[in-house]
Amino acid sequence: RKIIITIDGYSSCGKSTVAKQLARKLDYVYIDSGAMYRAITLYFLQNRIDWTSTPAVVEALKNIHLEFVPNTHTGTADMFLNDENVEHLIREMLVAEKVSEVAAVKEVREFAVAQQVKMGVRKGIVMDGRDIGTVVFPHAELKIFMTADITIRVQRRFKELYAKNPNITIDEVKQNLELRDYIDANREISPLRKAEDAIILDNSHLTMEDQLALVMQWVED
Ligand code: C5P
Repeated sequence: RKIIITIDGYSSCGKSTVAKQLARKLDYVYIDSGAMYRAITLYFLQNRIDWTSTPAVVEALKNIHLEFVPNTHTGTADMFLNDENVEHLIREMLVAEKVSEVAAVKEVREFAVAQQVKMGVRKGIVMDGRDIGTVVFPHAELKIFMTADITIRVQRRFKELYAKNPNITIDEVKQNLELRDYIDANREISPLRKAEDAIILDNSHLTMEDQLALVMQWVED
């Protein structure tokens, strides 16, 4: 019996790492909901859309087509924006700096959530994000809420970004994580919350194997 697994939590808690491994182990599909908000943000930046203007947002969303395309090399999916692979572009700091503002816009969330809900028609998925257990799949069979110490999260994200851009500083990364967490947890529409029935997974001091073993146990229960 295939189920829906949701993984929510703050930025850089290691949600996607666990989600990917879990999907591989269970032969499920992994869906990175954050990639959709990042791709929309990239489109808004590239096309100079004023996301504080509702009519401008509504008009722009009509021209956005998002698709997850499986990548045989990585074993996961790449984000395509209007038929262009933007998987690398959406991970850049320019997008990270604005994505939480864009993701707080009601019309943007409605647009993304509608597509996410459709992906759940087919069971056997692991989706990570901020509102997956609370809004997208309130009836998911297994909900996980991940946390980790802020210093550990900053270190992890810094390592990732530094590999691509050696000009980046720890401070910049820390400020970005804190700002995104603040906006995500305090926005009006579907703020980041732990679903009441979610299980907390604090991975500050757990290895990947520890985490997978724990989650596999929850899946089997
Ligand atoms: O998961 P990731 O860090 O790539 O997500 C980028 C941003 O997208 C988050 O900081 C948040 O503002 C937004 N997001 C969201 N709801 C989701 C997933 C991501 O608001 N389900």
